[in-house]
Amino acid sequence: MKIRILIGGLIFSLASVSWGLCQNTIMTVKGPIPAEQMGQTLIHEHVLVDFIGADSISPSRWDQAEVLEVVSPYLSELSGLGIQTLVECTPAYLGRDPELLLALSEKTGLQILTNTGFYGAVNNKYLPEKAFALSVDELADIWVEEWNGGIENTGIKPGFIKIGVNGDSLSEMHEKLILAAGLTHKQTGLTIASHTGPALPARQQIETLKTIGVHPSAFIWVHAQSEERLENYSLLANEGAWISLDGIQPSNQKDYLKKLKFLRDEGHLDRVLISHDAGWYSPGEEKGGNFREYITIPREFIPLLLANGFTDADIRQLMVTNPAKAFTIRKKLLENN
Ligand SMILES: [Zn+2]
Repeated sequence: MKIRILIGGLIFSLASVSWGLCQNTIMTVKGPIPAEQMGQTLIHEHVLVDFIGADSISPSRWDQAEVLEVVSPYLSELSGLGIQTLVECTPAYLGRDPELLLALSEKTGLQILTNTGFYGAVNNKYLPEKAFALSVDELADIWVEEWNGGIENTGIKPGFIKIGVNGDSLSEMHEKLILAAGLTHKQTGLTIASHTGPALPARQQIETLKTIGVHPSAFIWVHAQSEERLENYSLLANEGAWISLDGIQPSNQKDYLKKLKFLRDEGHLDRVLISHDAGWYSPGEEKGGNFREYITIPREFIPLLLANGFTDADIRQLMVTNPAKAFTIRKKLLENN
């Protein structure tokens, strides 16, 4: 009996190794799925964010059962609108809670991705004290360990790397973050999503990644909408980076339409990701405070695109093909791209 279990286990691990090698895999909080199962995806949203700062944050600041109750209707609503996957971009020390995400995924059926990495934007308010003294290798070790062994003893693995930098020229600390993210990518194949904003630090991060052999297609330029010189989109899309236009709201859809038209006309629609950056439960506020729904894209923005000359194939590219490609776990190195 024991031997059968052992052999069974061996066959299972061999099967999962070969499956992992020959399939394009996405890592959700429930485990790996083939990229073709990702479906329509919102690539940058939040379930819970706590802005109290790295020195004061603690999971005791929210009640998982209450968050589950407040948030699950918003996630269930998405399934009804054809969305199958949500990429949860809240980093560690800002309220990342993999167990909560797993419970939400099980309750609503929505596929959810979480992340590893540290967020340096807002002048390092959300960086743990230890991050300053650690070397690039030591930072990468922490994140690689979350990939290998799961996050905080939950066994839940990250589906991507999330870091954050300030919107001006890269500081020494933020250069350390992008280098550590690059090393983590080289060991895990996880894609790097970096809260960035303007083109200057995006360009600097891509150049830094190239110095250690990481291809720009491993990099998602998060909050690229804050760049107004659209030729900078072409510059970085030509290098292979992902342009993430991720703050779509009812009031700003015309601006996003203009940017997407530019990218389509320049032939870069295969490098673009869109999302709302909406949500979220705010600990410390009554029932989590004011929650922004994740519905503008499926309800209003896609119809607006279709009314403005975008085709069904373009929508599929933005909502299905690009997310699957961007979050597929694969080492994207200069030498093989
Ligand atoms: Zn965000």
